Amino acid sequence: MDTDVIIAGAGPAGLTLAAELALAGVRPTVVEALAERSGQSKAMNLQPRTAELLALRGLLPAADEQAMGRIDGGHFAGVPLDYTALETRYPYQVGILQARVEQILEDRLAALGGKVHRDRRLTGFEQDDDGVTVHGPQTLRARYLVGCDGGRSTIRKLLGTGFPGTDATRWNTVADVVLGAGTAAPPTVVTRMGQARRVRPDGSFASVVPIGEPGLYRFVYSGAADDPAEDPTHQEVTDRFHTFYGDEYELVTIRYASRFSNAARQAERYRVGRVFLAGDAAHVHLPIGGQGMNLGIQDAFNLGWKLAAVLTGRMPETLLDTYESERHPVGAQVLDAIRAQAAVQTPEPGPRAMRELLTTFLAVPATNRLAAGMSSGLDIDYGGPGHLGTRLPDFPIRDGWAGDLFHTGRGVLLTTDEKHLAPARPYRDRITSALVEHLPWDGTEAVLVRPDGYICAITPGDQIDQALPLWFGTIN
Ligand SMILES: Cc1cc2nc3c(=O)[nH]c(=O)nc-3n(C[C@H](O)[C@H](O)[C@H](O)COP(=O)(O)OP(=O)(O)OC[C@H]3O[C@@H](n4cnc5c(N)ncnc54)[C@H](O)[C@@H]3O)c2cc1C
Repeated sequence: MDTDVIIAGAGPAGLTLAAELALAGVRPTVVEALAERSGQSKAMNLQPRTAELLALRGLLPAADEQAMGRIDGGHFAGVPLDYTALETRYPYQVGILQARVEQILEDRLAALGGKVHRDRRLTGFEQDDDGVTVHGPQTLRARYLVGCDGGRSTIRKLLGTGFPGTDATRWNTVADVVLGAGTAAPPTVVTRMGQARRVRPDGSFASVVPIGEPGLYRFVYSGAADDPAEDPTHQEVTDRFHTFYGDEYELVTIRYASRFSNAARQAERYRVGRVFLAGDAAHVHLPIGGQGMNLGIQDAFNLGWKLAAVLTGRMPETLLDTYESERHPVGAQVLDAIRAQAAVQTPEPGPRAMRELLTTFLAVPATNRLAAGMSSGLDIDYGGPGHLGTRLPDFPIRDGWAGDLFHTGRGVLLTTDEKHLAPARPYRDRITSALVEHLPWDGTEAVLVRPDGYICAITPGDQIDQALPLWFGTIN
């Protein structure tokens, strides 16, 4: 074998996965088609759950440092969601450009001895009982292949898994533009995903939001003046800008412009044999509500530790099946939530009335809590009674935060009773154990948590000594 895992694509999903594998001591090889990162802005937010995951690896301070600001809460179909109702250290979105998140992840990978092999497009692969052979400019062999190669994924197409969903019926346009002041100054601080929003009587809308460099903005407008399949012309972008903003702001330059649509599709299978799909390769949807990059990073956190546990021989191959059974439903729920939002964001009287009703409903604290839990990624539940299968909310312990114990990428056992530490002693190479004064829930004596922060055993109820081999393998 040339390497343990070949990862196609160095976007957020591929880089997260590579960093997770390298942290766990297995060898990833990241192969990226582009010679250098595109300069176009894409995602610009970390949802609270993604912020928590980056914090579990000690990467959140770097993201905070590179952030443009904090975005208060989220939104559902444009109706604001209050994240302060959520039980998290990060009840907001971190406003950070995708390219900066990618750089942070790539730096982490480099610090762990890995690198991205650029200008190498994968064009084919075949798998057998022992491994996968991939073809591109170079032939490489590995135990596993993960397609993190984006919405048009070559790996997904070659894998032959279905990609059912709905075709595009509406197109919007996004452009990175340099703006100056006209009769007014454009916003300089990020407070929402789209600011200076304008809605015309025909229901068409536009927004601008500052994206990092002084004077640089993302301009988004609904619709496509020309053929939606073609990239927008500078003339179209200029005309639309003037339609929405008149002489309020000055449009100085257009750097990039492209379309995005409401097509929504999800791969039927996330795993076929030794090949996996993660990120946009597994699911595509309209980029509203700031979900795509977040979903991909979370896919990678779920898959990384499982691949490492199997590759190091600690866990059986069947653990890998839980990647699809856990992440496919999460992707399906996000796609449905986005379809629902897209359906009420049109100007017709029916959707408009629905939006008004939604505004009333989401003002109710319990409904806001439900929608905010979904949008933030904090309500993900991989199944089980009570808190089993949900994330461990971070909480203070004697020397810092419980979340700090996850920096090594190992599982974590937290207990208020010394007797639960004994069965974990032989697992020192896979589990960090700590005696704590309290746990987040009264009456709880111990929680065993997977490396991705989800609870796999909770006492009373589960026996820690029985859960350890189930989730972390047997000790010979
Ligand atoms: C305008 C816009 C705004 C967005 N806003 C948000 C937002 O606010 N929040 C959010 O969470 N998400 C947002 N998204 C979505 C987000 O950008 C994507 O979900 C995210 O990029 C997906 O990451 P990924 O790693 O799965 O795929 P990608 O980022 O697409 O990375 C895939 C990589 O694979 C490479 N590749 C492709 N084919 C091959 C091959 N055959 N061999 C090797 N390499 C290959 C590509 O060059 C690319 O670098 C937005 C998207 C757009 C377009």
